[in-house]
Amino acid sequence: MRPPRGLVAPAALLIALTLAGCGSSKDTDAKGSPEPTKTAEVKHVIHVTYDDPVDTQDAGYVGQVAAASGVSPQAFAEEILKDGAIDDIAAGFSDNFALPTDLTIHVTSAEGSPNYDPSTKTVTIYYDFANLTGNIIKAGNPKMSDADLGTQWAAVNDFVLVHELGHAFVDVFEIPITGREEDAVDGLATYFFTDQVPHGASYAFDAASFFHGLQDYQGAPDLTQFANEHSLSVQRAFDIACKVAGSSEETMQQIAALGVLPEDRPARCPGEYEQNAKAWSTLLKPHLRSTQD
Ligand SMILES: [Zn+2]
Repeated sequence: MRPPRGLVAPAALLIALTLAGCGSSKDTDAKGSPEPTKTAEVKHVIHVTYDDPVDTQDAGYVGQVAAASGVSPQAFAEEILKDGAIDDIAAGFSDNFALPTDLTIHVTSAEGSPNYDPSTKTVTIYYDFANLTGNIIKAGNPKMSDADLGTQWAAVNDFVLVHELGHAFVDVFEIPITGREEDAVDGLATYFFTDQVPHGASYAFDAASFFHGLQDYQGAPDLTQFANEHSLSVQRAFDIACKVAGSSEETMQQIAALGVLPEDRPARCPGEYEQNAKAWSTLLKPHLRSTQD
């Protein structure tokens, strides 16, 4: 009763996500941190909990594959999310960052969009939303192989998870943000992939492709989208793609060859990448365990 292996993300790809700064697990008092850790002994961690999947329908490609495998769409999503390394990311971040409090990642069978609740210090991830991302990726490229879909699916959901953990970091580390926090934490997730994950630039680019597809799914921008706290999905796509392009000569050439960025944007991308990487590395450094040793 397991999903076809071809659709499951190669775990090794995403276990790399546990790098996240390569700190030690030693807990010491903060030096230069705006908020010292409470005690030298306590190691705060990110817990992960999974609801039992419930039976829901999925009319998209994911629903077809799940049905062919004899599992419910949510049970299918649970496998993808687990194989996509949510637990590894939580463990990696717990090891590398001196969290001042525990955080929880709650993977739920309820309906909703991924979010972070500062009152409960909880990131909520939804099985149904994960399946929606799979359907959007497939709709954007119907000829995509199941293996590629599995990889992109995991990459997108890990990008979304790091984005949400970014909100959590902004909260618990009291990180100052100017401008839209939503754009800032997209920047964090992009920086994390381009700088901390081997071959991560391509996974960040997968996220950009997803947001482009999400705009198609949402339809032409209307007042509701303009009023939303997020930038338009297509703007998020271009901003992520630009930072990925700016992260190296190689990615610049690859993305230029795809012709996805408007003519006048690529010249700005190395600067946009540098500014974002400098900001996040500076803002996170005081909170790395390695810095506090
Ligand atoms: Zn957000």
